[in-house]
Amino acid sequence: MQDLAVDIKITQTEQSRLPQIDFNDIPFGKHYSDHMFVADYKDGKWQDLRIVPYSDFSLSPTTSALHYGQAIFEGLKAFRNEKNPKEVLVFRPEDNALRLNESAKRMCMPELPTEIFMQGLHKLLDLDRKWVPDTQGSSLYIRPFMFATDAFLGMRPSNTYTFAIVTGPAGVYYSKPVNVKVEKEYSRTCAGGTGFAKVAGNYAASLLPAKLAAEQGYDQLLWTDSSEHKYIEESGTMNVMFQINDTIVTAPTVPVEDTILRSITRLSVLEILEGMGLKVEERRVSVAEIIEAAKNGTLKDAFGTGTAVTIAPIASIGNDGEKLELPPVESRTVSAKVKETLQGIQRGLIEDTKGWVY
Ligand code: PMP
Repeated sequence: MQDLAVDIKITQTEQSRLPQIDFNDIPFGKHYSDHMFVADYKDGKWQDLRIVPYSDFSLSPTTSALHYGQAIFEGLKAFRNEKNPKEVLVFRPEDNALRLNESAKRMCMPELPTEIFMQGLHKLLDLDRKWVPDTQGSSLYIRPFMFATDAFLGMRPSNTYTFAIVTGPAGVYYSKPVNVKVEKEYSRTCAGGTGFAKVAGNYAASLLPAKLAAEQGYDQLLWTDSSEHKYIEESGTMNVMFQINDTIVTAPTVPVEDTILRSITRLSVLEILEGMGLKVEERRVSVAEIIEAAKNGTLKDAFGTGTAVTIAPIASIGNDGEKLELPPVESRTVSAKVKETLQGIQRGLIEDTKGWVY
């Protein structure tokens, strides 16, 4: 790891955009806070660490990320401590720093020292702390990302990169339970591919099938393995969990499966579930098993987990043109309890005994 004293130059905005924001109406991904953290990688090291007013980048038309897709990102959230609103809490940020580097390795990009990630994030949040909403269900979404910046069309890894963090206030992601479709034609990734990494191209590959499913009335896809389309992987930007009788089943991630993102919410939820005394099985889950459980009444709950959604109950599953309605959300005690616990920890209402909150 690079030896560094994290020295960040701060240039503050002359005019905050905060007065323009209606904190009672903050759609996801629309508004961005006043400042951003930026660092450049060149000559084999990260340099010019700075916080500047949120602004456009100036890029060469041959910027290699635009052509060959060396682009990775992260997503995490900051919350206002509901017991002490002066305090801003961030959920498991070091885990995002580590995952960013897993993505970087797969994409032949330089790793970013965790100290730079953490110091950049800390100083940025400190400066823009007024942007962390205190309205019900809201948070400050944090988007760290890295992309290749060589102005060069030759096919090789770039020698230069930019890492940046932008943030923006966000309200609730899904306002109602989601209808998902089992996808059996398209794949977002495949074994040996980049599914375990948070790579821009994975999301590009998912857009067309998601659009086609939306035209059929679905909110999201349930991805299946790319070779047989038999096993459930994940859904949109969520991992998925199913409660069959008193057991929670969910697909494994790396090192067992490299097609599924190793999600931080998923890991947290699994620990919470175990703490609740539930049996958790990380194993391959077939579409047939879930369909059968839905039909014979043993499927009690199904939900997605992820930073943006926290916990998103699944209302129905579409499979081969058949729509299976799942038990009413009001009857689902497990996902409701997990959501309450997770959000309670994230927002300072429940004591963080696990060291998750920064
Ligand atoms: N799967 C995919 C494909 C995702 O993009 C995300 C969002 N990062 C997740 C799962 C959930 O991951 P996390 O809990 O770390 O947000």
